[in-house]
Amino acid sequence: MSGSQVVVAEDDEAIRELVLHHLEREGYGVLGVEDGYAALRAARDIADILVLDIGLPGIDGFDVARTLAREGHLVPILMLSARGDELDRVIGFELGADDYVCKPFSPRELTARVRAILRRNGDARSRAKVRRFGRLEIDEDAREVRIDGENVALKPREYTLLLVLASNPGVALSRDRLIARAWGFDFGGNDRTVDVHVRRLRAKLEEPFGLALVETLHGFGYRFRRP
Ligand code: CA
Repeated sequence: MSGSQVVVAEDDEAIRELVLHHLEREGYGVLGVEDGYAALRAARDIADILVLDIGLPGIDGFDVARTLAREGHLVPILMLSARGDELDRVIGFELGADDYVCKPFSPRELTARVRAILRRNGDARSRAKVRRFGRLEIDEDAREVRIDGENVALKPREYTLLLVLASNPGVALSRDRLIARAWGFDFGGNDRTVDVHVRRLRAKLEEPFGLALVETLHGFGYRFRRP
């Protein structure tokens, strides 16, 4: 989407400048950063999409993605991978990133991937920051969840999991997909961890209020009900 803000985190100046040049020519707002910490800050503050090199100084691309997921920032990520073993990890985590591109890549290919991801996700900043699902309200700016206007206290991971589910109403999400989006890379638990967190969400959000928000899909995962 033209006008969207793209943050490009890449420490190789030649690649960074080339990518920025092509994206800017397409009408995107662009910002280049050189290390993982700057990538985190920019992703939290301004990015509609993050183009994220894995090999970055400071903290690497995997840590950046994991930290954003843990904080509940669901900014779409296009990973840049230089080596096969990095790529194995991206694929191994069933694309906690939205997509990936292997170096060397053509700027035209990267621009097309960025455009496709933005089309799928919409403009992150222009999306309503308070989402309403019947009696349930998720206030992304305040990181608050309310039912009938009353705050319900959630732990950070419960909040992130709810946000992932509610961002995809009516969509069947596998446990692996939920793990990739809500826990990010280097997840140490197993499928049961997802079940435990869904159970906690139900105990806090469904049972006391007589609501049915999340459906269990046996042998697969979960689906947030369309309100
Ligand atoms: Ca690099």
